[in-house]
Amino acid sequence: MLKILRKIVQEVGNTGDLDSILHLITLRVKQSLEVDVCTLFLFDFENRRYVLMSTDGLNKRAIGQVSLGETEWIIGLAGSREEPINLEDAQGHPDFHYLPGIGEDEFKSMLAVPIIHQRKVLGVLVIQNHETRKFNESEEAFLVTLSAQIAGNIAQAEASGVVEGKHFSGQVATNSRFDGVRGASGMAIGKAYVCTPAADLKSVTLKKAIDDIDAEEQAFMVALDAVREDIAKAGERLSDALRPEEQALFDVYLGMLEDHAIGGEVVKHIRDGNWAQGSLCMVIKNYEQHFSEMEDAYLRERASDIRDLGQRVLSHLQTNHAVPTEIPYGAVVIGEEINPTMLGEFQARNVVALVSMQGSANSHIAILSRAMGIPTVMGAVDLPLRALAGKELVVDGYSGHVYANLTPEKRQYYTNLVEEEKVLVKGLENLKDKPAITPDGHKMSLVVNTGLMSDVVRSQDLGAEGVGLYRTEVPFMTFGRFPSEIEQAEIYRQQLSIFAPQTVTMRTLDIGGDKSLPYLPIKEDNPFLGWRGIRITLDHPEIFLVQLRAMLRASEGLNNLKIMLPMITSISELQAAKYLIHRSINELREDGLEIVEPEVGVMIEVPAAVYQAHHLAKECDFLSVGSNDLTQYILAVDRNNPRVAELYSSLHPAVLMSLKHIIEQAKRSDTPVSVCGEIAGDPIGAILLMGMGYKKLSMNAASLLKIKAVIRETSLEFAQNLVEKIADLDDESIVQAVIKAELKRSNMDLKHFGIRDNN
Ligand code: PEP
Ligand code: MG
Repeated sequence: MLKILRKIVQEVGNTGDLDSILHLITLRVKQSLEVDVCTLFLFDFENRRYVLMSTDGLNKRAIGQVSLGETEWIIGLAGSREEPINLEDAQGHPDFHYLPGIGEDEFKSMLAVPIIHQRKVLGVLVIQNHETRKFNESEEAFLVTLSAQIAGNIAQAEASGVVEGKHFSGQVATNSRFDGVRGASGMAIGKAYVCTPAADLKSVTLKKAIDDIDAEEQAFMVALDAVREDIAKAGERLSDALRPEEQALFDVYLGMLEDHAIGGEVVKHIRDGNWAQGSLCMVIKNYEQHFSEMEDAYLRERASDIRDLGQRVLSHLQTNHAVPTEIPYGAVVIGEEINPTMLGEFQARNVVALVSMQGSANSHIAILSRAMGIPTVMGAVDLPLRALAGKELVVDGYSGHVYANLTPEKRQYYTNLVEEEKVLVKGLENLKDKPAITPDGHKMSLVVNTGLMSDVVRSQDLGAEGVGLYRTEVPFMTFGRFPSEIEQAEIYRQQLSIFAPQTVTMRTLDIGGDKSLPYLPIKEDNPFLGWRGIRITLDHPEIFLVQLRAMLRASEGLNNLKIMLPMITSISELQAAKYLIHRSINELREDGLEIVEPEVGVMIEVPAAVYQAHHLAKECDFLSVGSNDLTQYILAVDRNNPRVAELYSSLHPAVLMSLKHIIEQAKRSDTPVSVCGEIAGDPIGAILLMGMGYKKLSMNAASLLKIKAVIRETSLEFAQNLVEKIADLDDESIVQAVIKAELKRSNMDLKHFGIRDNN
């Protein structure tokens, strides 16, 4: 059964349009279960009726003609109860009545299983037999499993059909929304431009015994050189937008083509007598499989880089290489897997937004688009690419949503949002040099989160008061090996000197979880609960000490360094790290450097640290709350998984309670505490944090002026009252509603809080 199931699911996955998918399902189910009839009804969300869409065994002329009300008949029953209805004799059921023209009167037994996708009943799959017998458990299990597995395909095909205006008008007939995760913040509207791979690796077969091995090898080398050149050019095209350090991402990419890596293996296969195209595909397939099976998210994503490189080399071998495309201004680039080279091939300034079906916030393309300020949604798994080509899309990089096929009213709504955002951003420019002071005179300190150099440059223009979180793993990602002490020191010195005398809080290497380095592969079943952050660096003092010495070395004479430790769960980790910091200071002092001891702080980002906040605070100089991970660990919701994205909210009462607890504990020892997760850059979040007593917020440069504006409009008293009002609320939606009502009551400008009256 499992084999058959897999085969059907695979076949469905390879079928594009809705009609063919539905036909295939009814055909295969009838064959596999050896039943007399298999029929599929889809729910028409506009008319709220189940429409017969495909049948094998009943009258095919009834397709598209017969429909049933929401709760009518056995179909409506299975749909409304959201569970299978298994009847020995359907005709004896009180909800049964004859449906003219369908021809089902001769069938006695019936099993109706709802097809549910993301909590919505899309339709009902039915099997019927002549005989009077209940379908057995394994038949029922088969149908339930199949329905669950094909629901996503049906949803996607429906969406495609609807946008093309050809098919059944299903749930996404208008105002379709596709969910992904936030890649880079911002909102944009534009025409979808589908970014397709250069060539199809799957279509190449293996040919042995080629006549001229040298010619084949030569052809491969030429293709390889051409791809190197393409990638270098793509990097150059982005040179206006990116700093040299960020362009190093392209070098990582190029490194994969080196002779000792993929290139060398392909040549070996050619010399064994295989033709170049086949050899290439074989090697790429092996690498791709190897990477895609890795648990580690960063490395899994490298599979897409490998595939892309393979496709590029193949397109040159097949001499069908397309010249870089000119795309019109206002393009929303969408694709299965968008990577930096693809972006470099376009005129980046013409791209208003990016949407990738694969990948997460950690993909290279997401890192680059954040640096370039292009709103981006990653992991939009259900995006119907072909159907959306040329269509207008709204991309909301704040929420990770993409909208298509909007009604004029909705379109206007989002156009207004995009315009308002532009106006808001423009209007904020005059706040650059103004302090973040509330109307009742309370001063907040606003600092930035950095990683790439472009973050630094942008934040300088915005009047940031220093760096609250420098993610050192980002520059590590741009190397093909661990950077040396001197290489690191140079990078750190740049950050420190640009901001001096303001302080720069450097977080020690935070890899593991969903972030890893190509040169330190980590394979784990549960990476977020595994070898992460401080756990790795304490296990590898040789790596940690090099980084610490580089930071300290870079700080000589500037003395504006703070060191912050990620993923601390116990006092002993803090003590061990402090010991290594002191050792590094002593070593450098022995070498004659004048090192001023930096403040050392702890990130509070796991529940254990929340409950140990008091003890940790006593042992260090400052705390900083990593609300992104804290939310993930408190709510047990993977921060990068689009399937559970709706559950991930930093305004969940449990998260808010922990934020309050942390500041209360820090106050006991007078230890300064800041917040450096995304909540600090959210207007409502920032006000709540201020009301709780947090005085320092660290955020992405893009949020800085927005937050300054709301602080300048909101009194501390209002913020404190707001925190009081929501303190005992038990549900996130109620928290949101109360906040909105309170803001309204005080005549605050809701737009500044990202709240629209009708959302
Ligand atoms: C956090 O977890 O909130 C944080 C700031 O760190 P990162 O997002 O880099 O994990
Ligand atoms: Mg974190």
